[in-house]
Amino acid sequence: MDLPTQARIVIVGGGIAGCSTAYHLGKLGITDVLLLEQGQLTCGTTWHAAGLVGQMRPNRSMTRMSKYGIELYSTLEAETGLATGWKQCGSVNVARTPERMQVLRKQAALARSFGVDVELISPQQAGELYPVMRTDDLQGAIWIPGDGKANPADLCMSLAKGARNRGAKLVEHVEVTGVLVEHGRVAGVRTAQGDVRCETLINCAGQWARQFGALAGVNVPLYPAEHFYIVTDRIKGVHPMLPVMRDPDGFIYYKEEVGGLLMGGFEPVAKPWRMEPIPSTFQFQLLDEDWDQFEILMQNAIHRTPCLETAPVKMLLNGPESFTPDGNFILGEAPELRGYYVCAGFNSAGIANSGGAGRLIAEWVAAGEAPGDLWEVDIRRFGPHTANRSALAERTGETLGLHYAMRWPRQELQTGRPLRTSPLYDLLAAQGAEFGSRNGWERANYFRPAGVERPAYGLGRPGWLDWMIEEQRATREAVALYDQTSFGKLLLQGRDALALLQRLCANEVDVAVGRMVYTAMLNARGGFESDLTVMRVAADRFMLVTGSAQPLRDADWISRHIGPDQHVALTDVSPMFSVLSLMGPQAQALLKRVSPDDVSPAALKFSHTAEIDLGQARVRAARMSYVGGPGYELYVPVEMTRHVALALQAAGAELGLRNAGYYALDALRIEAGRRAWGAELGPDETPFEAGMMFAVRLDKPAAFIGREALLGLQNQPLRKKLLRFVFDDPAHYAWGGEAILLDGQAVGELSSVGWSPKAGACVGLGYVRGEAALRPHTATRVAIDLWGEAVGATACDL
Ligand SMILES: Cc1cc2nc3c(=O)[nH]c(=O)nc-3n(C[C@H](O)[C@H](O)[C@H](O)COP(=O)(O)OP(=O)(O)OC[C@H]3O[C@@H](n4cnc5c(N)ncnc54)[C@H](O)[C@@H]3O)c2cc1C
Repeated sequence: MDLPTQARIVIVGGGIAGCSTAYHLGKLGITDVLLLEQGQLTCGTTWHAAGLVGQMRPNRSMTRMSKYGIELYSTLEAETGLATGWKQCGSVNVARTPERMQVLRKQAALARSFGVDVELISPQQAGELYPVMRTDDLQGAIWIPGDGKANPADLCMSLAKGARNRGAKLVEHVEVTGVLVEHGRVAGVRTAQGDVRCETLINCAGQWARQFGALAGVNVPLYPAEHFYIVTDRIKGVHPMLPVMRDPDGFIYYKEEVGGLLMGGFEPVAKPWRMEPIPSTFQFQLLDEDWDQFEILMQNAIHRTPCLETAPVKMLLNGPESFTPDGNFILGEAPELRGYYVCAGFNSAGIANSGGAGRLIAEWVAAGEAPGDLWEVDIRRFGPHTANRSALAERTGETLGLHYAMRWPRQELQTGRPLRTSPLYDLLAAQGAEFGSRNGWERANYFRPAGVERPAYGLGRPGWLDWMIEEQRATREAVALYDQTSFGKLLLQGRDALALLQRLCANEVDVAVGRMVYTAMLNARGGFESDLTVMRVAADRFMLVTGSAQPLRDADWISRHIGPDQHVALTDVSPMFSVLSLMGPQAQALLKRVSPDDVSPAALKFSHTAEIDLGQARVRAARMSYVGGPGYELYVPVEMTRHVALALQAAGAELGLRNAGYYALDALRIEAGRRAWGAELGPDETPFEAGMMFAVRLDKPAAFIGREALLGLQNQPLRKKLLRFVFDDPAHYAWGGEAILLDGQAVGELSSVGWSPKAGACVGLGYVRGEAALRPHTATRVAIDLWGEAVGATACDL
């Protein structure tokens, strides 16, 4: 086929992601689509995938996506006439340990709440479903009858045919070698066969997506790992409808393949494929066998399915697959370049996820904004620091294994750390800080007493709880110092800064210089794109303080709303200022000891800021508290942070000053009913549902984005409603993500949980849906599904 000279949309890559994207654009009626593939369709990674297709995902939007994929795969053959190999054989996930069984119970409760049919079954029932498996060492299993398997190459070709039927052009043997950019937007692509002009480019280049992205300055942080499975000869008792089986404690999975078993897995320490750049000629190619690397999987498989000890192995397949720093794929419009979208980095679940991901990216392109809350996979979660190849390779060695590893609550990844550190990192480490990582920043989670070992991860009451309670006590009864340097800080300045903010912010931000305003930034549907604090530092200058994970996303949202004639400059100044928060009733007394300036409530009112002397430094003090109660946030130039911290620590000892970490902070903000973006707030939640109308001024003179939607929703029944929960029994320790049961029915899940010193038990926040969202709650009795056990709690409105 001749290469056209222009198309509205060019898709780069003819694997399952690219073909699904083309198919779904067609479904939306967008037909001027050109897909370019450097080799033949499927020749990258898709052709050699195993083909397991599961639907259980950790949250509602991702589960909706994978459920849609299964619906699509089960009907595609009828639509296109091309076989997909789809078989709804169901899947069995087994547990070897009591802890794994607890996790499976929790997942089953959640999946049911998301509308997936899941059954808890005994080892014996698992054995009946999967007769070639050994079951005497199992704790139990779950059975998901709707799961299945497909033939990846056939599925991809069927999607390609569906795309062609709807008008897309798919051209093979055309390598895209460059991206044309005009006026900060994609204008076309360069190929050896000539340029093609386009408005929109979608990078579906699989493991090449990172190096291809770099051609246009777009960061697509993924890295390939060697990934293995074996295929055996026929085995007695193995038939085409044998379920898929996963034994995560043994790191392995199984699928029937031509009467034999295909067995692969996710070894705990994986092998990055350090090939830079990956040649464009790597087509229908594999890597060398590596039985040493595969040994741990083979040993576990022989244990689980003893027939493998003697079954002839036809092949050990080793193919590269790309993994991302957090194990989720990458979707959305790149913040670096308008009109440049990415759909890549599937972490060995690209067959299962591409059906849904192709639809989501097509909708994203069509609407120009994300079709819902896709933060978990949003490309903007990865800052520029994630482009480092050495860190990516190291992290890939870790993330592959996470697929089946036991994921303990609050478990931190180990590789590529420490990277972004506060000036207090070494000081706090020496004082016992145990760090966690957020957006590359090291943050103290809690402080461990000297001479005590770091407690092991577990599912129940954590070993650090008593230490954290001491930090909470200091916050409520004396004073605690939190290093919140990882906060995102954006400086917006210029003649039109106020006008722009008034349009973006739902609260009134035309306030006196020195004031801070807590506000939502809403999308046109009235959902939270962000919640942040706006500090007016001059008539035409604002500091925006946002969550540690969000500066890139917020900067992108703001900058894409700057009008062509608006005179503003937006700069990410996150690394220039530390934030030290002094929280507690003695905070003022402590500041008095180190500063001659008056920061009493009369002189410095709540939500006001002032520059003060502190020790021999100058800092900006803001009367603010995220944890509830009295407190100050101190904005300190990075180079004076150590000086300020030492001055505070020296003067604070007598007042009971204590270091405190993010576990205490998070639990206290839950106790105080403060919502967090990414947990309680996101693009699918409105201020009505979140009980946040106090941060919205519908009557402010300036029209803001989302106002129309909110006016339309006013006095309408709520789809969901945020409630606060208090557990009955102090012995019950929860972590978030648990299903909420009302009269035995799942009505929602907990978004955040923490220990409340006031309640002497865990407290949580979470949305309830349906009828439960329509009525008031003062002390409603509910149950929380805690690792499969229904435990009592009380729910009330916020
Ligand atoms: C051993 C193994 C087992 C797996 N098992 C499963 C499984 O059971 N279930 C599951 O869901 N997933 C599985 N996967 C993962 C799955 O195969 C991938 O996630 C999926 O195939 C990725 O699809 P893709 O379209 O993103 O990438 P690819 O299939 O690699 O497609 C990208 C395409 O882009 C083309 N391209 C790149 N650069 C350019 C350029 N500059 N110009 C033109 N074309 C370009 C490439 O040639 C390639 O064809 C497995 C993977 C492996 C390795």
